[in-house]
Amino acid sequence: MTAFPFTRSDALARLAQFTPRAGSAYGARRNFVSADGDHDDVSRLSAALRRRVIAEDEVVRTVLAAHPFERAEKFIAEVFWRTYWKGWLEARPGLWTQTLGEAALQQANPAIARAASAAIEGRTGIAAFDHWARELAETGYLHNWARMQVASIWTFTLGLPWQLGASWTYDRLIDADPASNTLSWRWVAGLHTAGKAYLADADRIAAMTGNQLHASGLASLASIPQDTPLFPRTPLRNPMTPDPARPTIVLITPEDCSLETELPAINIRAVATTQNIAFCGADRVAQSDALTRAAAHWQCPAIENADDLGTLARAHGCTQIITGFAPVGPVAAALSQLAPALGAQGIALAEHQREWDRLAWPYCTKGFFQLKTRIPDLLRQQGLA
Ligand SMILES: Cc1cc2nc3c(=O)[nH]c(=O)nc-3n(C[C@H](O)[C@H](O)[C@H](O)COP(=O)(O)OP(=O)(O)OC[C@H]3O[C@@H](n4cnc5c(N)ncnc54)[C@H](O)[C@@H]3O)c2cc1C
Repeated sequence: MTAFPFTRSDALARLAQFTPRAGSAYGARRNFVSADGDHDDVSRLSAALRRRVIAEDEVVRTVLAAHPFERAEKFIAEVFWRTYWKGWLEARPGLWTQTLGEAALQQANPAIARAASAAIEGRTGIAAFDHWARELAETGYLHNWARMQVASIWTFTLGLPWQLGASWTYDRLIDADPASNTLSWRWVAGLHTAGKAYLADADRIAAMTGNQLHASGLASLASIPQDTPLFPRTPLRNPMTPDPARPTIVLITPEDCSLETELPAINIRAVATTQNIAFCGADRVAQSDALTRAAAHWQCPAIENADDLGTLARAHGCTQIITGFAPVGPVAAALSQLAPALGAQGIALAEHQREWDRLAWPYCTKGFFQLKTRIPDLLRQQGLA
């Protein structure tokens, strides 16, 4: 098993290994950060969950089979933080591209770019920050509590723009996720909950790392950055729903790498991945694993890296391509270009939206509490509790 699973068998093995610790032990230990990179108190399932190599409901079902809800509540709430950020960004899609644009402008400023490079290379002189910058470069992972310190020190002590910091971690994280990454940075910077920023503290860093990591010269005040006006909330996007009667190709993207566990029995003639919808090595490993599983499940051909989905669909007599719902991010952007081109050839591009998202996202409009109070109901509705 790898340290951070990208394949389904590795993710299931990690889940089995972690489940005994997902109850009260997680509640008590989840914020302790080891400097040696072990991270045994947390699941390290994020790279798999982000791509739905394994899905949220599967993780929660397994954990609830081992622990009563009250003991696993903290872990389950963390799983719902991913859902919350996705739902929140889904209702404000422009924020993602706006943040990317702002980061590109900031990177073009030589003084900012120089200071950012020093931080990214772990040359700030703040020992804990430099350690985590190197850990991120080497492993692509940081513990959640370390991410909070890193984002806070970047923003309030180093005085660097949060958008550029978000762009750095998005480029390096093996679980890079437009919603969790962008909105967590905004949360730390004090822009998500108005006026409430997260300020890193040297004593807390020493305590939470068992005195292994230290940070001196940290800002004692959080000077909340100016925010660009937020886009108004828009209605959640209604995906084109699959037509079960049509001969279909299943397209696997990094947004859903276990569709074979979800789609009903329909006329599936081939499964495919396509060249321009994988953005890093982890995406490619997860997609390739998903393709093999899906082809075995539906007993159909697997086409890796198809370069023209229209030609592929016609070759298999298909008039529909089904893929997993793509929330705001690069996959959704690529699909929005693909859909009209396929439509012009008489091929519909439909998205399968999971119940997990469909039921929860309407409660992701305000603070996390709004969603948190719904968790027991949401679990009951899906037969998980
Ligand atoms: C500045 C910053 C940037 C972040 N960027 C990302 C990112 O790009 N991609 C990403 O997946 N997560 C991101 N997170 C959230 C969180 O840090 C990771 O999901 C978590 O550390 C993954 O490790 P784990 O799987 O061991 O988590 P565990 O503690 O085992 O938690 C279980 C699961 O719950 C979810 N989860 C836990 N904490 C959070 C959280 N705070 N927000 C959202 N979901 C959570 C994840 O799916 C995680 O796999 C970010 C947090 C911060 C503060």
